[in-house]
Amino acid sequence: MSDLTNLTLAEARDGLKAKTFSAAEITEAHIAAVAESKPLNAYILETPDKAREMAKASDVRLAKGEGGPLEGIPLGIKDMFCTEGVRTTACSKILDDFTPTYESTVTSQLWRDGAVMLGKLNNDEFAMGSSNETSAFGNVINPWRARGSTENLVPGGSSGGSSSAVAARLCLGATGTDTGGSIRQPAAFTGIVGIKPTYGRCSRWGIVAFASSLDQAGPFARTVRDTAILMRSMSGHDPKDSTSVDMPVPDYEAAIGRSVKGLKIGVPKEYRVDGMPTEIEKLWQQGREWLKAAGAEIVEISLPHTKYALPAYYIVAPAEASSNLARYDGVRYGARVNGGDITGMYENTRGEGFGAEVKRRIMIGTYVLSAGYYDAYYVRAQKVRTLIKQDFDKVFASGVHAVLTPTTPSPAFAIGSKSKADPVEMYLNDIFTVTVNMAGLPGISVPAGSSPEGLPLGLQLIGRPFDEESLFALGQVIEDSAGVHPAPEKWW
Ligand code: GLN
Repeated sequence: MSDLTNLTLAEARDGLKAKTFSAAEITEAHIAAVAESKPLNAYILETPDKAREMAKASDVRLAKGEGGPLEGIPLGIKDMFCTEGVRTTACSKILDDFTPTYESTVTSQLWRDGAVMLGKLNNDEFAMGSSNETSAFGNVINPWRARGSTENLVPGGSSGGSSSAVAARLCLGATGTDTGGSIRQPAAFTGIVGIKPTYGRCSRWGIVAFASSLDQAGPFARTVRDTAILMRSMSGHDPKDSTSVDMPVPDYEAAIGRSVKGLKIGVPKEYRVDGMPTEIEKLWQQGREWLKAAGAEIVEISLPHTKYALPAYYIVAPAEASSNLARYDGVRYGARVNGGDITGMYENTRGEGFGAEVKRRIMIGTYVLSAGYYDAYYVRAQKVRTLIKQDFDKVFASGVHAVLTPTTPSPAFAIGSKSKADPVEMYLNDIFTVTVNMAGLPGISVPAGSSPEGLPLGLQLIGRPFDEESLFALGQVIEDSAGVHPAPEKWW
């Protein structure tokens, strides 16, 4: 790892402005790190030529003093984001070598602000998963290993390529998408920061759709400040996404270091789940103490419908997915497998193009939307969703500014350890994160410590709608107390 790959994004930005090093130099350092990172399988497409070209243009702008807020910053892009002229697959065979003729709004805003693209990052197929094991490109490996062990661990999912790449110093930051936890859970598993903004804060245009009422883009980076910097560039109104909100984008970085004195932090009793490891319970307690020491007030709260969030999510998300994925028919995009007549072609294309987890979701989704079952499952799940949202509304109306929870019920687990025979085992990983998507709220995961085996653990802060600034201020307190998580030892 060279010094240039180990900088924070803010340090790199400042060094580039001060001309301590050039965009070309920091980009070359990252291209070299990526080239050595094959065992991690984080990048599924490297774009070094494009990166060099973008860095060269950045150096020209920096020389003229015209650099944007992210000028010359090398980033990795989750393969759920359409990138113009660069293959985008959502890590599914069904998209084959689909090459978009357009750029997603979020990535185009990053390039507008001067960022440099290193390549496309691996993820669970169509972002369905919690371990990055469902990708058509194979699983991603977490750069972290338990102390004294050589066993490969999952990097979390679905944004496992993003989390692994940021933690392993293969980019200064990365994009992610979060439908049920796919930014926060992988951030926690790899010792980095990830934030899912309020639904509507970032445009979904040009992002491969999974569950449209839950999907939201957000950044990964190694410090809270770095995610604040990235999020400002990623946010904003987009007329091409009718769910994006027309509200000014604050200077999120200005919230870093802001006092949290007097902020009321809710601790939900329903998140004390049976069988939660003591290390997670201890970390949560530690988080409360850190925030209290910084002047926040800790209050016990109740979110009574929490236990229904996971089952309701696993109805709503597959329902929307089954509808969104209907477009992959062998006609409009990517792969086609002939089958005699048109029905045979659809069947063969979808049968061969989708992986097992995606098929499972399409079947569940189609089932819960079908006549006779719609009211019993889908409509009920939507009602539960409203109740979950109302739980949070009540808590926030009582004066609570943010809610503190663990991000995950465990540290990163071994590849293949969650049984394929029982998918619910994997779904249980999302227990603390899905409520946030169901309620459309912002949530951040900040590294807060390590398990006894030396694996990273994260704490989650959930905020009021569009109050990401409080999350950055509170997240910074946790980061200051816990210390920025160290780099993993390089074994790859
Ligand atoms: N693990 C969850 C799922 O598989 C969340 C995925 C996501 O946020 N994209 O649905």
